[in-house]
Amino acid sequence: MTLPTHDEFKKSTLLIVDDDFINKEILAHGFRADYNILLASSGEEALAVAERELPDTILLDIVMPDMDGYEVCRRLKSSRRTQKIPIIFSTSKCTDEDEVLGLTMGASDYVTKPFNMALVKARVRNQVLLKQKTDLLEQLASIDGLTEVPNRRYFDEVFEQEWRRAVRNEYPVSLCLVDIDFFKQFNDNYGHTAGDDCLTLVARTLANISRRAGDFLARYGGEEFVFVWPNCDVKHAQKLAEQARVAVSRLGIPHVHSDVSDFVTISLGVASIIPESEDDRKDLLESADEQLYLAKQSGRNTVSCK
Ligand SMILES: [Mg+2]
Repeated sequence: MTLPTHDEFKKSTLLIVDDDFINKEILAHGFRADYNILLASSGEEALAVAERELPDTILLDIVMPDMDGYEVCRRLKSSRRTQKIPIIFSTSKCTDEDEVLGLTMGASDYVTKPFNMALVKARVRNQVLLKQKTDLLEQLASIDGLTEVPNRRYFDEVFEQEWRRAVRNEYPVSLCLVDIDFFKQFNDNYGHTAGDDCLTLVARTLANISRRAGDFLARYGGEEFVFVWPNCDVKHAQKLAEQARVAVSRLGIPHVHSDVSDFVTISLGVASIIPESEDDRKDLLESADEQLYLAKQSGRNTVSCK
């Protein structure tokens, strides 16, 4: 058995924030061998780097001119993108009150200056390990166990995010609901193991349809899947849906109990809108559902589009 070499492990990224050059150097020097190091000298810079790079942990100086560490912490914790990054405050003034204030603001730990590097390293390592575990759990909780595509819960989150982005940027967002035709008959005749294999194969095929950044596929439930296509108008969405329909039929999964084909096929309902408010998200979902119903009514193995 060959173990991966040290370089083959993905290093975690540590953001060091301190307005004092010497402090920053001491910390960077101490961590460089084991972490990817990012540096920032002010609160503003720290926020920009954190937002862009999403480090695994942040060592954050409290006393800085312009914006202090508490304010940086408050802003990081109030942004959806950065709120889960562990923050370790570094400070020379550390009364119990300071420590309580920092911890209630969401910081994970404290280190004091002058630095005891062994202690700082142990505290950083703890936070990084904890973060890795949380990330993994979160990832597992958002993935459908059978098909390994994102689950309904994850869809709800992504759809909300993409909807907000579309409202801000005034571009269209399209939804496409997918349903496997005569899947109950497939399960009844070929058994549940074959049914599971079919779901997995269809999911993998759908996942390869559109791979632009932001494109998203989830298992919506049972034999239903859903695509989110941001910045995609109805014409393009219809094209993608048609690609998906053809790709699944070309898999050639035998289904002699289907009334529409000798193979497994899907029906698709597409709806698209340029959203105006955050509230009408539900309408688009309902509208895609109506289209799926129409696709089923008009004979299945087809795309219906609004
Ligand atoms: Mg300072």
